[in-house]
Amino acid sequence: GSGTAAAPAKDLFVVESPNVEYTNETIKSKYTYRTTAVSKNADGKYVAVPKETLYDFKVDRKIPKLGVMLVGLGGNNGTTVTAGILANRRGLEWETKEGKRGANYYGSVIMGSTTKLGVDSKTGEDINIPFHDLMPMVHPNDLVIGGWDISGLNLAEAMDRAKVLEPTLKSLVRKEMAQIKPLPSIYYPDFIAANQEDRADNVIPGSKASMDHVEQIRKDIRDFKAANGLDKVIVQWTANTERFADILPGINDTADNLLKAIENGHEEVSPSTVFAVACILDNVPFINGSPQNTFVPGAIQLAEKHNAFIGGDDFKSGQTKMKSALVDFLINAGIKLTSVASYNHLGNNDGKNLSSQKQFRSKEISKSNVIDDMVAANTVLYKKGEHPDHTVVIKYMPAVGDDKRALDEYYAEIFLGGHQTISIFNVCEDSLLASPLIIDLVLVAEMMTRIQWKAHGADASDAKYAGFHSVLSILSYMLKAPLTPPGTPVINSLAKQRAALTNIFRACVGLEPESDMTLEHKLF
Ligand code: NAD
Repeated sequence: GSGTAAAPAKDLFVVESPNVEYTNETIKSKYTYRTTAVSKNADGKYVAVPKETLYDFKVDRKIPKLGVMLVGLGGNNGTTVTAGILANRRGLEWETKEGKRGANYYGSVIMGSTTKLGVDSKTGEDINIPFHDLMPMVHPNDLVIGGWDISGLNLAEAMDRAKVLEPTLKSLVRKEMAQIKPLPSIYYPDFIAANQEDRADNVIPGSKASMDHVEQIRKDIRDFKAANGLDKVIVQWTANTERFADILPGINDTADNLLKAIENGHEEVSPSTVFAVACILDNVPFINGSPQNTFVPGAIQLAEKHNAFIGGDDFKSGQTKMKSALVDFLINAGIKLTSVASYNHLGNNDGKNLSSQKQFRSKEISKSNVIDDMVAANTVLYKKGEHPDHTVVIKYMPAVGDDKRALDEYYAEIFLGGHQTISIFNVCEDSLLASPLIIDLVLVAEMMTRIQWKAHGADASDAKYAGFHSVLSILSYMLKAPLTPPGTPVINSLAKQRAALTNIFRACVGLEPESDMTLEHKLF
């Protein structure tokens, strides 16, 4: 890398343990992963055996100069996240009718939440630290932002179109925003709603997939990296929701077939898949923030071949985030959820695009499976295959703009045939919830590029270290329909997703998972 911004992290804490070793470049830890292996014996009884696996983790402490390229930079999310980072970088304050407001990173789990480091050895009180300080992570104020959009408006004009930010804030960032103009993008009209056509004035020629498109995107990324002296780039799709691509044998089922299909200009290869392929070929992490099946089997296989990171799908910002917390609570409280009815109406361009049936269908699929694992795990309440009714409706209502309304009714059976009905009316400023998630996804994905690990024992040499699996399931907390390595379970429960993120980071610096047992306070 260029090395200009690369500097060892200023750590907030140090781990003092025979299992942890710090150098200027790395943190190395020996970590014992404790699990329980279960089998069934001849009598059909479960046998649970505590199991220990020893891993070596190695974290690169050098914080890189990082670029983010957003596909859909001129959209509501793209403009909001860009303005938000500019505002934070400059510590801006602006007047609103409720008084002065200042830049912050509320809604970002990395920047806005804390995590328990441990217990004060004198007072016994919890010591909580900003999540961002658990690992040597990039600070979002240092991100360099760029990207593509099929609409050529500069970001000042685009943020006006988005109607998300206060006029006073906009006036403070207008000059810088006006200097950012999205790169031309690829546009295959069949994949997004026909009602988007009038924005598409900034497109790379060609209306179906081609290797030229792949190469142009790779070049765009390289040029952006060079122009800004970046060590690394992360690409994120926050462009329109596309329709699903059909999974076709011989076309997108394997890595080789997918590359051939792109060469042949096959009409079932979506723009988002072309972006993914371009990134994978250059080992640039690619995250899909929309619900469509960008990661067709061939794309996942290609990522595995190249050890490139991918993550998805669909930002989990409002209704689904509530759902993945509430359903977890209800079912784990032993309450039998029998139905969930979810209505949305929204008036932004996302809503306009989703008013078209095929694009809505992508969103419906993404929103539908989010309670499956929690239901399947409770064999007391639900028979095998039994499932609560679950319906999702989305309507386009221009008047409400970006202030999405989400109405949910949770209907449950309680003790002795009684009922509990919970109604939620959730008004969420969509892009203001999604933007911090875009930042979290970038920060965590980048961090994962600096973690190496191996099973401890057989070979002590560095050569055996490897990165995490290509499919970054650790990003699940921020995503509605988490992509996981092929054949591995999907976890939707928000609490479990957060615990996984926290505890993997803890393991990397040689700390035990936070168990919440607090035994130190329970002995007489
Ligand atoms: P938006 O419509 O305001 O922005 C999308 C942008 O993508 C537009 O500017 C459009 O011109 C551009 N675009 C479309 N096709 C493109 C292509 N092929 N290449 C480059 N640019 C392209 O939408 P938004 O509100 O910013 O949301 C973006 C995406 O994120 C949507 O798919 C939405 O479903 C998803 N999402 C949003 C939220 C949220 O905002 N809370 C939550 C989950 C998912």
